[in-house]
Amino acid sequence: MKGTFPIEKFRALRTPFYYYDTEVLRRTLACIRDEASRYERFCVHYAIKANANPKVLAIIRENGLGADCVSGGEIQAAIKVGFPSENIVFAGVGKADWEINLALDHDIACFNVESLPELEVINELASAKGKVARIAFRINPDVGAHTHANITTGLAENKFGIRMEDMEHVIEVARTMKYIDFIGLHFHIGSQILDMGDFVALCNRVNELQDKLEANQIRIAYINVGGGLGIDYQHPNRQSVPDFAAYFKTYATHLKLRSYQTLHFELGRAVVGQCGSLISRVLYVKQGANKQFAILDAGMTDLIRPALYQAYHKIENISSEDPLQTYDVVGPVCESSDVFGKAIDLNEVHRGDFIAIRSAGAYGEIMASGYNCRKLPQGYLSGETPL
Ligand SMILES: *Cc1c(COP(=O)(O)O)cnc(C)c1O
Repeated sequence: MKGTFPIEKFRALRTPFYYYDTEVLRRTLACIRDEASRYERFCVHYAIKANANPKVLAIIRENGLGADCVSGGEIQAAIKVGFPSENIVFAGVGKADWEINLALDHDIACFNVESLPELEVINELASAKGKVARIAFRINPDVGAHTHANITTGLAENKFGIRMEDMEHVIEVARTMKYIDFIGLHFHIGSQILDMGDFVALCNRVNELQDKLEANQIRIAYINVGGGLGIDYQHPNRQSVPDFAAYFKTYATHLKLRSYQTLHFELGRAVVGQCGSLISRVLYVKQGANKQFAILDAGMTDLIRPALYQAYHKIENISSEDPLQTYDVVGPVCESSDVFGKAIDLNEVHRGDFIAIRSAGAYGEIMASGYNCRKLPQGYLSGETPL
């Protein structure tokens, strides 16, 4: 089964471009709201790094999610589309002074702090402004996620977070700082996680750490478990909305949330992944020695995930119903890794056909680059002019 696209309207547009199906996005957001609201004190933030298209952000903000930012630019993008600063959190291993100052000026909800040197700088900069910064420590829980090595973040070997063994020490230090208000703990174990057992492992770890803190009379109000819920890249039509019911239920069942605590989530991919497709035109069909190539006008500069992570995206010829043939689907960029898929069955491909690369709403448009002096792809939402 292929997706449905307004092909007639596509004809007037320069390819490649991103097409966002707002109906899928709105259904996804409604599901998040319904499933999270079954539980008390569950707060969902959107991880802006997955897709910062302002029109996409506006729809997410309208649906009441907070914003999880990993740079000053993302904080500015969040403020610009109207996310309230009390719903903005700021993570990242390398926060620059200007980014910390920006976050302080906007009185954001929480800094997710990843090292002691960072804590000292936040304390100093807050002191200069006469402000108190709310902070949570990002703890590396040493929990492996069964996903691609480049997108695990919660193992001891990764650069992210503070070692569990150091947790009590850094909390002690934070409590001596005049311009720091320590409110809780933050975790994030990786991305594209489909095995709920990985989240159960995180819950168990959080429970352990909480018990340890309580034994030392340390009460925290804020727990943030990050994001990471994956999407079905194989079947974007069959499962266009991820299983948020199972996801939130996992946390409700396994994480021992105290009555005075709020539980925060930072979902990126699961919010926007399935609503987006990269639309391109076929430039040429070329015969190789023992295969044929479908050469697109989209390349790794528009969607880098296949080249960067060997990621799979479903590819469809949305212009043709001719019998299937097998192609290597490639882009025009001068790199051998500029390949979207090898030995892919597509309805027979002709020059000018529209090709949809599905499930590209997350880590697609935002990761586009100008390598080869290529133009950045536009992003269009269904229902807006010109669609
Ligand atoms: C990337 C990131 C997220 C979102 O990850 P997804 O896999 O897209 O849900 C959440 N929190 C932090 C700290 C991140 O770096």
